[in-house]
Amino acid sequence: MFAGAIALAARRAHALTRGGALAAFAVGALTYASGTVGFTLVLLAFFVPSVLLSRVGKARKRALLDVGKAGARDAAQVLANGGIATVCAVVFAFTHDPRWAWAFAGAYAAATADTWATEIGTLAKHQPRSIFTLRPVATGISGGITLPGTLAEIAGALWIGVVALPCLALAGVPGAARAVLAATLGGIVGATLDSMLGAGAQELRRCDACGRTCETDPHSCGTPTRLVRGLPWVSNDLVNLAATIGGATLAFVLA
Ligand SMILES: [Zn+2]
Repeated sequence: MFAGAIALAARRAHALTRGGALAAFAVGALTYASGTVGFTLVLLAFFVPSVLLSRVGKARKRALLDVGKAGARDAAQVLANGGIATVCAVVFAFTHDPRWAWAFAGAYAAATADTWATEIGTLAKHQPRSIFTLRPVATGISGGITLPGTLAEIAGALWIGVVALPCLALAGVPGAARAVLAATLGGIVGATLDSMLGAGAQELRRCDACGRTCETDPHSCGTPTRLVRGLPWVSNDLVNLAATIGGATLAFVLA
């Protein structure tokens, strides 16, 4: 019920495509079934600010649309951000090992940190720089970092780490400052891994018609694009998935 209402509301608000809403329903239902309202509140602590942030400064975010990262979230995007956390929640339901609950929080801390960094970093007037070379890169291209974006990344990870303590307690999961720190660090490291993979391995394409770099094939204008950097199968969704695996793993080990 709860998961269905959320997925439907997000679909109505054009935050999700039809497939994205179905995936969100599955994620929400499994999360609720595994960890009741406490786990669901952690999921909402990721999802609601993400949707709200994506609505701020729409004009500046056309740059994101251009590289293929804005607009309603599809199923692959939903699963890239919420899939690993959902697996952790289900494993927790079977094992009752609190480390899996904190890994669940760590995965959402990474997804939140990455989302906030991207959304705030795009709004900032700073020119993003490559995480490796510190050379300027186009706004919205993966692997670019800004100071406001990096601060937002830390804030996003900390937000989930702190919120998880009372929320997971609702589901009977013990926690302390150490677990909060584990989830927060998991989030920061996961989001940093995201930037590094984004700069190093993720496919970067070019639309010759518009003369712009982007991350989709075809480009938002409809023209087929060619690969200029990275590996052809390493998409933004795959990089996000790796980031949540990193966040969950670190939180699991440290909690
Ligand atoms: Zn184009």
